[in-house]
Amino acid sequence: MPFDDRPISGSARSLAVSKWSNWYLIALKLAIGLLFALLVILLWVLRQSKLEEQRLTLIADVLWLEQRINFHLEESDGNFQQLARDLSREKDKNALFRLRAEYLLKNNPDMLRIVWADETGALRKSAPEQVLSRPGANEAMFRQNVDVARKLGKSVYTDAYSTPDGAHFEMYSPIFDDEHYQGVLIGVFSFDKLLKSIVPWWFAEKYQVRILDGGGHVLASKSKVSNAETTINYAISFDPPGFGMLLRVDAYRSSGNFAQNMLTALVIALTAAMLASLWVMRGHNRRRIAAEQAQRSEHAFRKAMEDSLTIGMRARDLEGREIYVNPVFCQMVGFSESELLGAVPPMPYWPPEEMERAMSINDSRIDGGVAPREVEIRLMRKDGSRLDALIHEAPLIGANGQPAGWMASIIDITARKQAEELYRRQQDKLQATSRLVTMGELASMLAHELNQPLAAIASYAAGCLNKLESGNFSAKEFEAVLTRLGAQAQRAGRIIRRVHDFVHKSEPKLAPCDLIEVIDDSIGLIEPTAKLFHVRIEREILADLPELMGDRVMIEQVLLNVMRNALEAMSAAQVPPERRRLSVRLGQTGDQARISVIDWGPGIPPEFQDKLFTPFFSTKTDGMGMGLNVCRSIVEFHRGRLWVEENPEGGAILVISLPIIQP
Ligand code: ADP
Repeated sequence: MPFDDRPISGSARSLAVSKWSNWYLIALKLAIGLLFALLVILLWVLRQSKLEEQRLTLIADVLWLEQRINFHLEESDGNFQQLARDLSREKDKNALFRLRAEYLLKNNPDMLRIVWADETGALRKSAPEQVLSRPGANEAMFRQNVDVARKLGKSVYTDAYSTPDGAHFEMYSPIFDDEHYQGVLIGVFSFDKLLKSIVPWWFAEKYQVRILDGGGHVLASKSKVSNAETTINYAISFDPPGFGMLLRVDAYRSSGNFAQNMLTALVIALTAAMLASLWVMRGHNRRRIAAEQAQRSEHAFRKAMEDSLTIGMRARDLEGREIYVNPVFCQMVGFSESELLGAVPPMPYWPPEEMERAMSINDSRIDGGVAPREVEIRLMRKDGSRLDALIHEAPLIGANGQPAGWMASIIDITARKQAEELYRRQQDKLQATSRLVTMGELASMLAHELNQPLAAIASYAAGCLNKLESGNFSAKEFEAVLTRLGAQAQRAGRIIRRVHDFVHKSEPKLAPCDLIEVIDDSIGLIEPTAKLFHVRIEREILADLPELMGDRVMIEQVLLNVMRNALEAMSAAQVPPERRRLSVRLGQTGDQARISVIDWGPGIPPEFQDKLFTPFFSTKTDGMGMGLNVCRSIVEFHRGRLWVEENPEGGAILVISLPIIQP
């Protein structure tokens, strides 16, 4: 907006603003970074606490499972010891064994066989009964296990061994009858079945449960999906049976909490959206700052331009209301900006004498009529003094491309006008002076010319008086003499009037004038001088011209000046008498009347031809050098032209061309 009047921010302010926005940006970036880091930490902490929680649950579950297995094995051990005690006391041992063993096998799916060996180690009974074979890996191991059980007097467990049905282990429970060793009860257990019967379904859903031997090989496993992905695990020694066996539980990767996952995803999405919007905002902010910067520099540039202007500027809206004035214009008219802004016609700087004209120009501009773009008008300062101004007004186009008013440049031309006026007055004075000089020179000649009619009048008067005294006269003679006397008096009167007119000339007056008469009068005036210089004046009328509008005396003055110059030139150059002639020729070229003053003098050297019409150029010792300058001004006043040409026969031709403007 070119008329924005906001105060211009100084460089200090813009520096502070940019510093502040820098800090603001850094703080914002830090806050975003911190927020992001906190989010990551929060998610990590949440995950860690979940893992920790999972781990604790896992440990608790494993301990619970271990306890359950231990209870089960202890229960089996207790059952075996009870059977061993009963066998030592019972008469029908075989029947008791069969009955109790069947019961135990039925209620403990992990128990595969129960074998009864006597005090020698020989196998006595087995349940199921079909095969009576020694359990275990080999004879030596069997004997060793029986021995250990007998010596310890309590149940002992063997290491795991593999069979086609999976890994098995055994429990040896010694039978004592009042301190007497009577044999051993051997239980064969399957790891697989142990897990299947002990591990509940919900445990298997959550965990993969395995029993590993001392070398880390899997002895038995219970899992929902064997190759499902697991996360954390926990192992505990599987004792009994011992032998470095481990009960290892692996937690399955949980599908996760949907709400929690959703929440995390939402938080991440929102953070990403926030970052994206911040990024967009950053771009927006950058563009805004750049635009502000550009606006500030544009403002500063405009201000500098305004301040450097030496001409007044003024803008008006479509109603003619002032919407902008620059300091130069305010200074010019002496009103302050606030006094001028919003002012509507008639403006306070229109003087009463120009009010009507200013109003009509203003009205025709506002109404879209034909108003001159450039106007010279007189304005009034606040103190009432006047100034001349040249106002150039052009349409102002708004941001939407539509006319928004007018923008004007105002130049104070008071000084120029005064100079012009002064020059005009000086020219007038010079013209008058020039006329007087010419007159001074002509005065003696005129006196000489006047002498003739006056002498004639005097002699006619003397003749009349003589006749009267003699008494010898007729009325007819008197009438003839008095007629001649009157003619001479009129001639003298004409001469005097011409001189009077010439000297008292003031303002130029255009009137119909006959150029032939003008030429004749001028020749009449210069004739005495020509005679003095022995120059013959010729007059050639080549065209029958109508009267044209002109100031007769002024044109006469031009002709006299030009003719006098020619006479003086021929005289100064001592031109031989036969060449001493001056021809005044009147012709017509197109719509121009042309008077050529031709002489056969020395001519004008080419180097002088340009200077001839400049003021004070003279080659004469007593010359003023104003003659031709004034002559040209007079001819140009008549919208004609005055120039010099070369006479092909030697000499100069001064040509006066005047437009034929008829009255
Ligand atoms: P001034 O007569 O006072 O010198 P003018 O302006 O009338 O001033 O003339 C300027 C000069 O032009 C004269 O001094 C003269 O040298 C030259 N001049 C004018 N007319 C002629 C002419 N017909 N022949 C030669 N020189 C001329």
